[in-house]
Amino acid sequence: MLVVMRTDATAANVDAVCDAIRALGFTPVPMPGEQRTAVGLIGNDGQVDGSHIGGMAGVAQVINVTKPYKQVSREWKPDNTIVTIAPGVSFGGGELVVMAGPCSVESEVQILTAARAVRAAGASALRGGAYKPRSSPYAFQGLGTKGLQLLALARRETGLPIVTEAMDDAGAHEVAEVADMIQIGARNMQNYSLLRTVGKIGKPVLLKRGMSATITDLLLSAEYILAEGNPHVVLCERGLRGFDTATHNIFDLTAIPVVQRASHLPIVADPSHGTGVRALVPPMARAAVAAGADGILVEVHPTPERARSDGAQSLYPEQFTDLMRELRTIADAIGRTVAPAPGTTAAVAG
Ligand code: PEP
Ligand code: MN
Repeated sequence: MLVVMRTDATAANVDAVCDAIRALGFTPVPMPGEQRTAVGLIGNDGQVDGSHIGGMAGVAQVINVTKPYKQVSREWKPDNTIVTIAPGVSFGGGELVVMAGPCSVESEVQILTAARAVRAAGASALRGGAYKPRSSPYAFQGLGTKGLQLLALARRETGLPIVTEAMDDAGAHEVAEVADMIQIGARNMQNYSLLRTVGKIGKPVLLKRGMSATITDLLLSAEYILAEGNPHVVLCERGLRGFDTATHNIFDLTAIPVVQRASHLPIVADPSHGTGVRALVPPMARAAVAAGADGILVEVHPTPERARSDGAQSLYPEQFTDLMRELRTIADAIGRTVAPAPGTTAAVAG
């Protein structure tokens, strides 16, 4: 339930509504807006009769939120949420944020070379894994703490904010010390304990869609993070398990406009994991931008043939440079711009 206050409602009116919600046994969440305040009711309010609140002083309307998710829904918050990970790097405000880098941090030379290359091409964030969720326990699992240190070094060298994955509760705290944005991977989308932990940590979160998750599942997972008081969540479409071996996954571009209608949270697309095939990444990245994604996540490696993970889908730096040029043109055609790297101006990056 959401109680929308009148534009002339007083603070006392809002307090009285909060008291009424508490009296029903729920937690009120006042959300001051530019025009008016709304007060949300947190909890399982399916059986609640809040009709008497509609008659209280200062109340314009009582809306029953019909979706299973509440705080992530557009019913709850009509305006887009803007998630800022570094000065000038924001998702959801109209600019397209390009996150790029190797799947895994492998060495100092590798990550610095990659960071410089993606920055020069115009990416505005460096994405690379120190902790890697691998399908096989025998595959490279990431450099761990050393990888985080190398990411911090790459940020000092290039100024690019860092997006990197946390796999468990203890790891989330360690990752949060370095990351500007904590990635929750597809395999952990329904790790509710981890979702609560990153909700409590409060740093921006990149929440990837599980490989068999519905859009409602994805939004309910985001709800766990918001329910802990962290509204800085960016969703990510990364492909679904399918039956066709031509691609690694089925890249669900429709999820972008579907999520944008259902939720105020930004949504980005990951054509690298979405396709699993290098040659398919540029066309699907272009398509995702055309579909209105708030950003793109692209794997780029200085020498993909030697990558310790996801080399087959990693772009060569030159390919990424060409792709960035194309993405700027497509963004322009739909009235958007590609966010510049932090510390540069759009003209320099463009
Ligand atoms: C990754 O981002 O490198 C990754 C492992 O992705 P996903 O969780 O989407 O499989
Ligand atoms: Mn990867």
